[in-house]
Amino acid sequence: MMKRRILFLVLIAGCAGPLSGQAAKFSWPEGKRAAVSLTFDDGRPSQIDTGLPLLAKLGIRATFYVLPGNVEKRLDGWKKAVQAGHEIGNHSMTHPCTANYAFSRANALEDYDLERIAKDIDAAQQAIARMLGVTPASFAYPCGQSFVGRGRAARSYVPLVAERFVLGRGYMGEAANDVAVFDAAQAMGTPFDDMAPGDALKLLEAAAKDGRWIIFVGHDIGPRKFQSVDAATIEAIAAYAKDPANGIWLEPAGAVARYIASRR
Ligand SMILES: [Zn+2]
Repeated sequence: MMKRRILFLVLIAGCAGPLSGQAAKFSWPEGKRAAVSLTFDDGRPSQIDTGLPLLAKLGIRATFYVLPGNVEKRLDGWKKAVQAGHEIGNHSMTHPCTANYAFSRANALEDYDLERIAKDIDAAQQAIARMLGVTPASFAYPCGQSFVGRGRAARSYVPLVAERFVLGRGYMGEAANDVAVFDAAQAMGTPFDDMAPGDALKLLEAAAKDGRWIIFVGHDIGPRKFQSVDAATIEAIAAYAKDPANGIWLEPAGAVARYIASRR
């Protein structure tokens, strides 16, 4: 028992050296103490109709993880999003999720292998480049799920994402990202659909206190409800980030990921 404890302490001491050194060296730009990114998934029409005017009014930029099929339906709107400086990210071509979600039963990750998911991601990359003239640098896992296959044959497709993108963003994460230790291919995404402004600010303040990077994830932008972020919540985050006293760096996810990669 004693021996085990000593070994444990040695391991802790061995780890703490380089990690704490790394944490001490890392600093956010312009003396900021933490980072926040606003990300929205699927390329839903409300992101164009309600989101773009709101973000323009607030003078902030976001990341949109679009589905090419939805971009095609509102091509002019998505071109405007690019012109406004928003980041366009890859969210796959066909949005495969677990078969346990009824909507994904006919396109289930359990029925995929690594080759098929790679093709799906690459097809989205090509379609986005063709339609919008940009090459996504970051990826959001559909439904936040990063596996293919099932049981003993299940595999992680995180390595495919790591090869292609500076960031792989998850969903339903329960912590903001600690830049000293997090895996950029599996960054945690914090849902803020249907969230009261005060609750979003509490999460942002907690992340800021620890110098972390919080990546908010929403879907529709409009009245507060299931899979929809209220304008008031986005306004509250923007106001908090704009106050110099709070020391918040609000940037699209890919830009923050690139900054962190350059400092590691
Ligand atoms: Zn999605």
